[in-house]
Amino acid sequence: MNLDIPDPVVSRRTVLRSAAGAGALAALAVTASTAAPATAAPGRTAIVIGTGFGGSVAALRLGEAGFTTTVFERGRRWPIRPDGNTFATFSSPDKRAAWFDNRAGANSATAIPVEPYPGVLDHVEGNGIEAVYGAGVGGGSLVFGSFTPVPRRQDFEHIFPAAANYSELLSTYYPRAKRTLGVSPMPADILKHPNYVGPRSWLEVIARYGATPHFFDFAIDWDIVRAEMAGRKRPSVIIGELSYGVNSGAKKSTDRTYLAAAERTGNVTIKPMHEVFDIRPRPRSAGFVVTARVRDEQGRTIRTVTAEADHLFMAAGSFHTTRMLVEARAKGTLPQLSPRIGNGFGTNGDFLTIRTNPSDDFGLVQGGPGYARIYEDRLSETPMSMVYQATPLPAPLGKAGTTHLVQTHTDERGTVDFDHSTRTAKLNYPYPEGSNDVDRQAAAFVGKFHQRTEARYGRPANGVPIYTRAVGFGSAGTYHGLGGVVMGEAASMDGAVRGYDNLYVVDGSFVPGAVGLVNPALTITALAERTMDRFLGNH
Ligand SMILES: Cc1cc2nc3c(=O)[nH]c(=O)nc-3n(C[C@H](O)[C@H](O)[C@H](O)COP(=O)(O)OP(=O)(O)OC[C@H]3O[C@@H](n4cnc5c(N)ncnc54)[C@H](O)[C@@H]3O)c2cc1C
Repeated sequence: MNLDIPDPVVSRRTVLRSAAGAGALAALAVTASTAAPATAAPGRTAIVIGTGFGGSVAALRLGEAGFTTTVFERGRRWPIRPDGNTFATFSSPDKRAAWFDNRAGANSATAIPVEPYPGVLDHVEGNGIEAVYGAGVGGGSLVFGSFTPVPRRQDFEHIFPAAANYSELLSTYYPRAKRTLGVSPMPADILKHPNYVGPRSWLEVIARYGATPHFFDFAIDWDIVRAEMAGRKRPSVIIGELSYGVNSGAKKSTDRTYLAAAERTGNVTIKPMHEVFDIRPRPRSAGFVVTARVRDEQGRTIRTVTAEADHLFMAAGSFHTTRMLVEARAKGTLPQLSPRIGNGFGTNGDFLTIRTNPSDDFGLVQGGPGYARIYEDRLSETPMSMVYQATPLPAPLGKAGTTHLVQTHTDERGTVDFDHSTRTAKLNYPYPEGSNDVDRQAAAFVGKFHQRTEARYGRPANGVPIYTRAVGFGSAGTYHGLGGVVMGEAASMDGAVRGYDNLYVVDGSFVPGAVGLVNPALTITALAERTMDRFLGNH
């Protein structure tokens, strides 16, 4: 199959963009030369590793403040193509959905064979958990479901140390993050469309259960969704297609918000297809030397690039940031890092279930992204939440089942540990199916939900929850891996990584394993905004 995918490494567009940010290139001393850039002011150079939510915030705020900044990203750029063929689709998955893997799919249980390619979804196979991350310029924002909820105070404070200061986030940093991401609630006219019978039915199911719906924002351009409805854009959001990327362009990923603004400052250069593999202190002055391999679409290393800067911001996502630091500590390139790095990996309490054969009509297809969360505070277990997310099944299978993410509080945490035999860091999450808090609590909740919404009306065969790990459900995997360089432990509350000056963490690894019964991207963004405020206040 000829996908006619633009060359991510040296496309004309990339070259032009790079030229626009030529000043920022000064931060990059190419191929093993680590001489200080001549044009950058002393103390005013920075490197950011990764372009997800945290890296995007760091890039913009550094660029605005005049720091000459190089951003390394292992994946390619994904500019939206006018022909609507930027990303793979659920009905026809292909290599664009997988990060250098020979299988592509939303989870490993349902994946299909593909040739290796720098696609958008990276499946990290841990011991006891599969953690899925985005890859590409925009990181997880390319693949995320676009849910951007704010956690309730009591759930946030259940997890975070008091110094994380929910009130400050609520007054300053959540609003700033929302504004810059451009998020908004689902408009009424969208909700009325025939593809959105699912969200409307979900409200009825919630009422039957006896709960209150909590509405939240999405990082979606609703005008483009309207264009999908009118047939002017390729159907994407309106058929629930979000986690391989949105072909219509309706998703507001950070390459189109924060990162675009960062590049416009003229101080920030993004280097796609640059995978960092070595970090060490600069020998003669404060700062770091970072080495990346530049890869082609087949995964071959074309060359290596070495850069140095006064400040280093880790934003490679919770697993890869932690992995790089654990490996640097073990291999002796950053030996003074805190022994706590690698601790506190959590799954955000995620538990995925499908309600099969619901009695309510969820439509022939389910328009996305999803809708309304409920909280259940009355069970003896612990507070939990449940949200409806559109299931991208082709018509008429939309009626066959609805997918729900349940989130619970749990103290269960995994680790990222150095494996001396392979000399790489591995994710360990030793909580087998059926014998862990998340499974026990969430199974009780979805069982009660089935009882109250279907069985008590004499419909025991409707809305039956399925959550076996055998098909990638339950707690088999997480899209919300968090922790590893946790605030107040391996890092200070201001994001400084303990053991080295001028080293910061701005991504999900900073979060103590969960954000509090909601999806984490907005909270990661808000915390990164706060970290950058603190940093710039001191510099
Ligand atoms: C399918 C899916 C759906 C999701 N839906 C939602 C949702 O609806 N709402 C929500 O809140 N959250 C959602 N999430 C989770 C959300 O995407 C993540 O929590 C968020 O992206 C994490 O942000 P981050 O800043 O920690 O880093 P990430 O977004 O993970 O970005 C890290 C970046 O670093 C790059 N990188 C990694 N290693 C290297 C290296 N060695 N060198 C250079 N670059 C590197 C990666 O390619 C990536 O671009 C979803 C996740 C997935 C996978």
